Amino acid sequence: MAASGAMASSCRARMPMMDPIDFVCPRCGADASADYYGPCNSCREQLQAAASGAKRSVEAPEYEPKVNVTPNAVALKDD
Ligand SMILES: [Zn+2]
Repeated sequence: MAASGAMASSCRARMPMMDPIDFVCPRCGADASADYYGPCNSCREQLQAAASGAKRSVEAPEYEPKVNVTPNAVALKDD
C-alpha cells in the first residue's frame, strides 16, 4: 500500500515541461497564457460545464435502444 504515493508522483514527473504560450483567446478575445492554443481557462470551464450539461440530457434517451440488442444476440446464438 506504500507504493500508491510513489505511483502518483512518478505519473506527474512523466509530464514534459512546456513553456506556456501567450495568445488571444479565440472565444472571448482576452489575453491568455497556456501550454497550447485554445480557449482561455474561464472559457474552458464554461465549455466543459455546457458540454457536461448537454451530454446528460442527450445520453439518457439514447441509452434505452441498447436493451433491444441483447435479445437478438441471444436468439442468434441459440440458433
Ligand atoms: Zn476566453
